[in-house]
Amino acid sequence: MGKKIVIGAGLTGLVASYYNQDAIVYESSDRIGGRIFSINDNNNIDMGAQFFSEYDRNIMDFIDSLNLSHQLKEFQLKNFSAINREKNFERHLTDFSDEEKIELKKFKDITEIIEEFENDELISSYFKDWYNRQVGSEADWFIDALIRMITFSDSTKISAIYGIAVINSFFETCFSFSNGLSEIISTIHNIRSHNIYAKNRITNLKIKKRHITSININGKKMDINKNDKIISTIPAQALEDILENKDDQLNKTLKEIRYVSCTTAVFNTKKTCFPNTTGSVFLNTKITAAYENKNKFTMNKLENENGTIVSFIPDYSHNEYQSNNIAKKELINIYPDLDNNITERNVMHWKYGLPICSPNLFKNQKIIMEYKPKNLEICGDFMGLPSLDACVETVRKVNV
Ligand SMILES: Cc1cc2nc3c(=O)[nH]c(=O)nc-3n(C[C@H](O)[C@H](O)[C@H](O)COP(=O)(O)OP(=O)(O)OC[C@H]3O[C@@H](n4cnc5c(N)ncnc54)[C@H](O)[C@@H]3O)c2cc1C
Repeated sequence: MGKKIVIGAGLTGLVASYYNQDAIVYESSDRIGGRIFSINDNNNIDMGAQFFSEYDRNIMDFIDSLNLSHQLKEFQLKNFSAINREKNFERHLTDFSDEEKIELKKFKDITEIIEEFENDELISSYFKDWYNRQVGSEADWFIDALIRMITFSDSTKISAIYGIAVINSFFETCFSFSNGLSEIISTIHNIRSHNIYAKNRITNLKIKKRHITSININGKKMDINKNDKIISTIPAQALEDILENKDDQLNKTLKEIRYVSCTTAVFNTKKTCFPNTTGSVFLNTKITAAYENKNKFTMNKLENENGTIVSFIPDYSHNEYQSNNIAKKELINIYPDLDNNITERNVMHWKYGLPICSPNLFKNQKIIMEYKPKNLEICGDFMGLPSLDACVETVRKVNV
């Protein structure tokens, strides 16, 4: 067997390195962990990924294999949804124009997908009851709205499977990590540090006859043989940028996978959502707009306790929040009385926040597998239902 090169040291790259002790990992930035990033102030706070569900078996088992299960902490997703979403759902639905409603009624896949899920243990009887009670015959457009709201997507055509998985997680037990998810990253790093190189950017992957023949690391060329293996874990758009001479179909598909960029911000307040825990307030521009006249809504709910709020602001425009400073201004607009508590240090911008889950999700994944160079494995969250679970799952699937 030849050499193994992993591109990127986010969770996916580190999982690949964990399973392959000889693999060399190149990471472009000076920080490993990618979209996992915990800051340790008074509380341990995750600025990137925060939680997963008990049914995310890939990540749950992986954490177990690292002997870190004792770090799991129940994450109060139910409280969070009750505070910020449920009561105001009606209002969100009215955001749809009549034309859009007609369009959404054509979105038939959802019913078929629900049927497909009937035998899946993932859909608990609790969810079925809830679905029938809440959704009933209005399914097509009602659930699309719900999916949009929960996934922060502005797309009318979002993968229903993803939406359902996200909705379902609201009814499951979810976990976060006591010390922040970066503990997973540092645990793997401690085992494999001799094979992980930060500040090493891959700038080019050259393809000839459906094989990678060379790669550039920080501008320096390295020849690659047919029996070497390159394992890419970087976002689809970043991969598309560096692959040279790729097949047209592969090019088109990688381009199609778009990301919602977003900003997280954390700040202290005398008030908190959940007593004794780190609270999360997730905002999207539509929800914010709905509360424009009552923008004290969130603050009124947060009563008299010390705590920390993490806000998540998705960027539908893909340009709007180019810098932390702009995101900071946006936050102050939303929480005018918190002006003094928000600092740039506590705001983080994610260029590739989450891949948008279009209904083409699975089709795109198949195309990528079919047209990719033979000695290139493509893993990461856009190759599954985007989540931490997918990071582990996609590495396991390719069996590198
Ligand atoms: C704010 C936010 C909240 C989220 N919340 C959750 C959540 O609660 N639960 C959940 O399951 N998921 C959540 N996610 C998604 C989750 O964070 C990601 O799915 C996961 O972390 C992706 O890991 P990855 O290793 O595939 O990619 P990344 O973490 O993006 O890692 C890719 C790495 O590759 C590096 N890289 C890029 N280009 C190159 C190059 N050319 N050469 C070398 N290195 C390169 C990058 O610097 C990066 O370190 C969230 C994401 C965000 C942004």
